[in-house]
Amino acid sequence: MKKILILFLLASTLSCTSQKNSVSDVPPTKYINTITETDLKTHLYIVASDEMEGRETGSLGQKKAGNYLINQYKIDQIPFPKGATDYYQRIPAAFLNASKNENLPDSENIWAYIEGSEKPNEVIVISAHYDHVGVKNGVVYNGADDDGSGTVALLEIAQAFQIAKNEGHGPKRSILILHVTGEEHGLHGSRYYAENPLFPLANTITDINIDMIGRSDEFHKESNKYVYLIGSDYLSSDLYNICEEANKNYVNLFIDYKFNDRSDPNRFYYRSDHYNFAKNGIPSVFLFNGVHADYHKPTDDVEKIEFDALTKRTQLAFAIAWELANRDNRPVVDKSGS
Ligand SMILES: [Zn+2]
Repeated sequence: MKKILILFLLASTLSCTSQKNSVSDVPPTKYINTITETDLKTHLYIVASDEMEGRETGSLGQKKAGNYLINQYKIDQIPFPKGATDYYQRIPAAFLNASKNENLPDSENIWAYIEGSEKPNEVIVISAHYDHVGVKNGVVYNGADDDGSGTVALLEIAQAFQIAKNEGHGPKRSILILHVTGEEHGLHGSRYYAENPLFPLANTITDINIDMIGRSDEFHKESNKYVYLIGSDYLSSDLYNICEEANKNYVNLFIDYKFNDRSDPNRFYYRSDHYNFAKNGIPSVFLFNGVHADYHKPTDDVEKIEFDALTKRTQLAFAIAWELANRDNRPVVDKSGS
């Protein structure tokens, strides 16, 4: 007994010394708490306002929304990624119209970046689409939940990582914040990124995708303290466990796996941007609140957002990313995905 104990103590002393500057033992709690209802509300009242004209792909309204996002990153001193020339990944109209010509103009993904301190070449992508369906018959489709909610979640997650970094607790791996365009027309922005990645896909360890996390669906009328997770166990049992533990340790939502069922007729797994990462073998998880009566209606307005739920789900996405960024090993791909 004693011998083992001595060896154990010695080993732990050694590992403490060698990881002097490591952040692995810093709990994310303090940074989780920088993600607030107030901030999310401030951002979403702007992103989902009539001024943004429903953020149709390539429209002036979408560009305005994009400018707002970039300004927030500048205020928080969060840079565009290494290797990029600015906050935009430009996507030519020809790409957007290739599979089906909808006369879409050029558009842009928007990105921001928090460089890792120990394994900067390994990247976690956190994605959400910032386009929506625009104006129809003079009525603005504000898309507050779809996907204004994910859009503002990304702002808060990036800010939390940057605050941690400023205090010497930056992520070990790099974080790429990716606001994709053209989702409503067929996941174009994420497909463009996957075909033209800034960082090699082989080094992209996970995509955390957020699309609609600000409302509740008909199956959760009694409580909005839930989130659907989809795809977390399709490619990696590590990713599944990380999501479960991050939730248990820091957020305590009810995780509903109803739509994780491959035979579910809604096929949500194939319907948002993570799919363009998952199809390339990258472990991916999709955070989602389910659909509701205002889904793709002009009534998907900011007044209907449940900001308490939006805050908790954003905090969960951050906690998952924190764990992925700081743990010793990247999640192992041990499943086929199908
Ligand atoms: Zn969406």
